[in-house]
Amino acid sequence: MNLMTAAKAAYGAGKIAQDESYRNKMVGILAAIALLAVLGFLLLGMCISAVLSGMVNLSTGFKSGTASNIAKAEIPSELMPVFVNAQEKFGVSWAILAAIAKTETDFGKNIKVSSAGAIGFMQFMPATWQAYKQDGDGDGICDPSNAWDAIYSAANYLQASGFEKNPSNAIYAYNHDWGYVNTILTIASGYSATMVPTGNGIWPLPGYLNITSDFGYRPHPIKKKRLFHEGIDIGAPQGTPIVAAADGRVTMAKYYGGYGLCVQVLTKDCLNVYGHMSGFAVREGQNVRAGQVIGYVGSTGSSTAPHLHFGVYVNNSPCNPKEWLKIESGNR
Ligand SMILES: [Zn+2]
Repeated sequence: MNLMTAAKAAYGAGKIAQDESYRNKMVGILAAIALLAVLGFLLLGMCISAVLSGMVNLSTGFKSGTASNIAKAEIPSELMPVFVNAQEKFGVSWAILAAIAKTETDFGKNIKVSSAGAIGFMQFMPATWQAYKQDGDGDGICDPSNAWDAIYSAANYLQASGFEKNPSNAIYAYNHDWGYVNTILTIASGYSATMVPTGNGIWPLPGYLNITSDFGYRPHPIKKKRLFHEGIDIGAPQGTPIVAAADGRVTMAKYYGGYGLCVQVLTKDCLNVYGHMSGFAVREGQNVRAGQVIGYVGSTGSSTAPHLHFGVYVNNSPCNPKEWLKIESGNR
């Protein structure tokens, strides 16, 4: 190799080295751009899913979650997939469909024509069956005594009756009896820890819907003067499980004056207060999910009978829990 070739070779090597470092730089920049793009997509995705989950809470949240031990003990295992598939297809809580099946025919064990003329697995009136029947198992026949067909038809009917906006009214449409509605909601709440969600949270006392004292001014039952009641009282037997109305962090779990044994949960946008408990199922500092049992109904503090005092504070101001839950229309 002469000097010139050596120089050329060196130049060439240098050029290759330069090219390589250029390429490495470009690869680095491209990788950085790609990483930023991926991060951007992830962030966008998170925002979209946050928006979607917010929407789910407000409009299509009337689905039930995992089956409780009661559900596993009572509901024939071969029927579980039918209820869950019906929930997915029609947006109607599987637990409520199961509660109706339990109440109407004990999951098909007592199929007969009722005194009112109702037929099949879910006890449809013949005209309603004709209008809402479904071929759930896809065998080409709509058979009211077939579990798939009957459960899908019931879900179809509940959906058509506005279940998504107001489950109680839809169940009432199924059977015009508020006692029946309460029975169904009570059984359903036993089947799934995730009770029928409402506007911003879920009803904190599954199965017990009776507001014994409303939000606002009232004569105080003990102090005998008109005081502002900063929440709602819901009557229920001693020891009834109370569930968190919304996800959050337990900021208090202690005896707190007139509220007795009191749990406070700070959520993403408000403070939920649960008073007069007989016992706690959570401790301070713990994170809780909506539907999780946080304590039990009692009558501790200023209270005359077992009940739950449920308060909602937005920006430290008491807000009507019924408005926060959006149950004025009957959703609970
Ligand atoms: Zn109260």
